[in-house]
Amino acid sequence: MANFRVNNILIPEELPLIALKNTVLFPRVVIPLIVQRPKSTGALDQAMARDRLVFFATQKSIEDNIEEKDLFTVGTIGRVVSVFKLPDGSSKVDVEGLTRASITNFSSREPFFKVNTEPIAMEHPGESNLEERALTRLVVDQFRSVSEMKPFANILPEIVYMMNQLKDTEQIISLVAINLNLEIQDQQYLLEIKSALEALKRLNVLLTRELEILEAEKNVAKETKKQIGKMQKELFLREQLKSIEKELGVEDERDEINMLKDKISAAGMPKDVHGKAMKELNRLGKMPAFNPEASYLRTYLDWLVELPWSKKTKEKIDIKEAEKILNQDHYGLAKVKERILEYLAVQKQVGKLKGPILCLVGPPGTGKTSVGQSIARALGRKFIRVSLGGLRDEAEIRGHRRTYVGALPGRIIQGVHNSGVKNPVFMLDEIDKVGMDFRGDPSAALLEALDPQQNHAFSDHYLEVPFDLSDVLFVATANVLDTIPPALRDRLEIIEFPGYSEDEKFHIAKDFLMPKLYKDHGLKKKTVVFPDSTLTDIVRKHTREAGVRDLERQIASIIRKVTRKLVETPSARQVIVTKELVHKYLGPARFSHQMAETKDEVGVVTGLGWTPVGGEVFSIEVTKMPGRGRLILTGQLGAVMKESAQAALSFARTLAAKHGIKEDFNKDDIHIHIPSGAIKKDGPSAGTAITTALVSLFLKKPVRKEVCMTGEVTLRGKVLEIGGVKEKILAAHRAGLKTVIMPIENKKDMDDIPKEVRRDMKFFFAKTMEDVLKVALR
Ligand code: ADP
Repeated sequence: MANFRVNNILIPEELPLIALKNTVLFPRVVIPLIVQRPKSTGALDQAMARDRLVFFATQKSIEDNIEEKDLFTVGTIGRVVSVFKLPDGSSKVDVEGLTRASITNFSSREPFFKVNTEPIAMEHPGESNLEERALTRLVVDQFRSVSEMKPFANILPEIVYMMNQLKDTEQIISLVAINLNLEIQDQQYLLEIKSALEALKRLNVLLTRELEILEAEKNVAKETKKQIGKMQKELFLREQLKSIEKELGVEDERDEINMLKDKISAAGMPKDVHGKAMKELNRLGKMPAFNPEASYLRTYLDWLVELPWSKKTKEKIDIKEAEKILNQDHYGLAKVKERILEYLAVQKQVGKLKGPILCLVGPPGTGKTSVGQSIARALGRKFIRVSLGGLRDEAEIRGHRRTYVGALPGRIIQGVHNSGVKNPVFMLDEIDKVGMDFRGDPSAALLEALDPQQNHAFSDHYLEVPFDLSDVLFVATANVLDTIPPALRDRLEIIEFPGYSEDEKFHIAKDFLMPKLYKDHGLKKKTVVFPDSTLTDIVRKHTREAGVRDLERQIASIIRKVTRKLVETPSARQVIVTKELVHKYLGPARFSHQMAETKDEVGVVTGLGWTPVGGEVFSIEVTKMPGRGRLILTGQLGAVMKESAQAALSFARTLAAKHGIKEDFNKDDIHIHIPSGAIKKDGPSAGTAITTALVSLFLKKPVRKEVCMTGEVTLRGKVLEIGGVKEKILAAHRAGLKTVIMPIENKKDMDDIPKEVRRDMKFFFAKTMEDVLKVALR
């Protein structure tokens, strides 16, 4: 074909050819190229020497050495705009595409291809090219969308801007084609399309696909970003949490393990306990934090670490000092104090306690606990008190195995733990209330804890390691002796707290309870005055007990009311607690002082009994009524008391017969009643009283009203020794009785009786029933 013109440039018949790898030159755009191969540089050189025009055809493959058939026949005639020679002999050139053309003939092959070409013009749909314009606009819009969605792709914003200004459809197609990341095949295909509409439609398809891909990419990116965002957020929060925990002193887990390790080292554990603790710590270290067992393990380790394995308070045994302290804290109790001082002296001598455990026995409120506290004070030891009342389960003493949920050590180890030292004075309260059932025998575990031979390695189920209790000074308390299991009782050194007389109570109240109560209520002695007569009144009429607990409560209640009055009326400077005020605050007297019978009566005798809460005064009534010779007993009498009633009846009948009283015992029933039915009464010590009542009935002789008695009687009338003398006499004294008849063997107990009581009363010591009757009957 002959020469032709494009944009006023004359295209020669023959053009040198440069083969393009991986690129397609489109008309009406400028692209950079690297010209490297000898054939290409030859072609470039010739073009530069002449009119700078070159035919650019794209290779079908990326081979270096190519033949004619390896080239697409449709290409673009281009003009080299600039050449920049590079040191390695290749050139960087910018080429402007002029027009599409197809090869009609290869005119030369060496040293480079020369071709004859025929231009391919773009076909437009005629005058009203609305469709073309619409499609163009659509393509441009789509292209803009692509460019916006792909901000980091190489599409410069200027290109988009420029494209909006362009009128030339071919140029727009070219620009879009080179700026989209199209496959070579797609580019070549586009280049070969003659119709503008077809090309635009093709571009539309390609752009739509690109947009879809981008959209999908965007979603993936969004998702990824979300994921990453979440991770980053978590990371951030975690960091924050760490710093918050640090602020709060909550160390993280590793720190915790290290801290526990330090604590274990510092706890002064014996070697094998230390080994056990380290083993469990290792286990904890390997456990994930959310494992519930981890928290049990932590609790366990805390127990191990906090137990006083080697922590002790320094002990001082100074007997003089101890005596001073005991006297400071307690009124009276001479015998108790003496026993305790002896006990401490032996301890001092021996060095370490290997002997029996002290057991303080007596009614409530008689100062057992406070004596225990004084012992601790005197020795410079800590004091800890654990109540064993109602204990039935061995695990309470020895702990639950760790396999139980919520398992804990037993009360002994807990007590030692709470005291913080391994040598406290450890008070086991209410040791007489320890029961025993299917859950095991707590007293066996208690024995092990108390036994000096074994307690250097006391085993607690929870701890699993032995604990040395040999430095603990155990002191037990009990109300009664007979319910303490015998094996346990063998280990105990009993010290009895018999209860207080009215006078002792008065002094305890005045010198010990009152100062304490003043202090507790923030009062001065001068502001609330308790005259002695008031105190005596409270002791006598508002309390009846062996100890002073109720007394303390009553006085406290008055003090509370007075305190309130003082606070409410600031003008009041002083309140004198008169008997009337006591009456107002505590109500009428709860107990009448005179409990004795009001007149001498036949068949009625006042007896003295003993209960866990102190001595007791009761009257025994006997009557005779027509019947069949039965013995009727009422008033909650125990088996022993019933037997002694039977014996008393036999004795009384014999005596009656001796006195010539002829009775038909088969015709009358004898009824013995001991009032206060709710209280269970037992024991043989009512023997003299029942016998006296019966004899009085049979001989029809009245019993002196001021007399009371206690004593066991044999069938032949011998009076035998009984226990609880002090409690009984104190009870008689409280009741205003003046004469007490007692077994002769109990004369030795009189040393315990306070002087003022002995002064107030007369005592008769009987060997036989004859002696009793001589005093008792009128
Ligand atoms: P218990 O343990 O025997 O039931 P407590 O030791 O609790 O009795 O005593 C009750 C209250 O009576 C305590 O406030 C105690 O200080 C006081 N108390 C008991 N006996 C005396 C005493 N002899 N001297 C001074 N205060 C006493």
